[in-house]
Amino acid sequence: MDIAIIGSGYVGLVTGACFADVGHNVICVDNDEEKIKTLQAGRLPIYEPGLEEIVHRNVSAHRLHFSSSIREGVDKSHIIFIAVPTPPQPNGDVDLSFIEKVSREIADVLTDYRVIVDKSTVPVKTGERVAETIKRYNRHGAKFDVVSNPEFLREGCAIHDLMHPDRVVIGAQSQHAVDLMKKVYEPFMAPVLVTGINSAELIKHAANSFLALKISYINAISAICDASGADVDKVADGIGMDRRIGRQFLNAGIGYGGSCFPKDVAAFIHIGEQLGVPFTLLKEVQRINAGQKERFLKLIRDTLWVLREKKIAVWGLTFKPDTDDVRSSVAIELVDTMLREGAHVTVYDPKGMEKARELKAIADAKFAASALEAVDGAEALVIATEWNEFANVDLTALKRRMTTPIVFDGRNLLNPDTMGELGFHYHSIGRASIIPR
Ligand code: NAD
Repeated sequence: MDIAIIGSGYVGLVTGACFADVGHNVICVDNDEEKIKTLQAGRLPIYEPGLEEIVHRNVSAHRLHFSSSIREGVDKSHIIFIAVPTPPQPNGDVDLSFIEKVSREIADVLTDYRVIVDKSTVPVKTGERVAETIKRYNRHGAKFDVVSNPEFLREGCAIHDLMHPDRVVIGAQSQHAVDLMKKVYEPFMAPVLVTGINSAELIKHAANSFLALKISYINAISAICDASGADVDKVADGIGMDRRIGRQFLNAGIGYGGSCFPKDVAAFIHIGEQLGVPFTLLKEVQRINAGQKERFLKLIRDTLWVLREKKIAVWGLTFKPDTDDVRSSVAIELVDTMLREGAHVTVYDPKGMEKARELKAIADAKFAASALEAVDGAEALVIATEWNEFANVDLTALKRRMTTPIVFDGRNLLNPDTMGELGFHYHSIGRASIIPR
């Protein structure tokens, strides 16, 4: 099928590349001309494992094209996916101006029937607004259908998630649009759930908020473990072995970040308030998440006493491993706070350095070329993102290169027994601290 994707970021580019890989003809459109030039030159503006190979393969096969013209995308495609940002506003409401602008731009150049599919995460009832807007600006009176098709991919394993989705949600009013959408997804052989547009939109916020809630649940338990001497990893194993609960998303840590969970939880709270049904449970999720970072900072302050002039290394800047995405990363917030308190912070991340260097909040940090270089002479190491590279580090070299071998493991990445045997002073989340005698 001929498909256009408007917005070629983490979601749009990966979706476009995977659609092309299963045989569709795809045009990825973006209004960031630099991004389009980069893509046309055969380079990728983001890091996602496996993406480069798929993009190159499909560009060579002439199934994947890049353009900065929405008109070209709309003219050449039957189905137009929208994958533009839906960032949060300070009050938690979603900024839908990107969606509105793209809807107007599509309407302006619409001459024949098209299916316009919203893939961005949007508040329930946005589809109605998109349809109204397209109708209003539809100069040629062309027919169209609006569909909601929320995206559930996880950065870091986005290709796998796109190619093998747990489910494809299609929210539509017209059977014709449903049939076309089923054709798009046919090669993926995934379970398809057809719903109304409002339900499809709601599914995305409900799913992400539930995952954030699950993380916050184990984080709240980690505080009880810290206070009682129980081990949160064992507790998570014990409850996760119950198939009704499951072990995924039960890893205690310094809280969730990234461009989705914080904004989607805030948006869902706001949606509830606007609809007159306050979702106070999610306010508690937000409180627990913020508290987890504060508890970790308190642990660091209680141990090091004064942060001013302390040399602290931070491993991990991205909001999760296997991505270069540093948007709303808890790691960045930690570095920012420690810098403000006068610490000398040296950071290292396997893929996030380039994007992190652009952030004003951590401009005073030093950027090291490797994990071990970051800890040279450090009085403490903070692990903020659970990259495999950090789990496999040479711990003897780590200890040798630090001035005082104190480790704060915000992701429970390392083994406390091993750290104890090697003589580290080791703190993690919801597990007993190891303090050498
Ligand atoms: P992103 O910022 O990486 O990409 C969005 C792209 O849209 C950018 O390249 C931007 O230049 C482009 N854009 C903005 N306005 C445009 C316009 N008028 N015309 C053409 N292009 C335009 O964002 P993302 O992470 O891909 O997220 C997109 C949406 O998908 C959001 O609603 C997000 O919540 C949702 N989502 C994201 C993820 C994720 O893991 N990143 C997962 C599921 C859903």
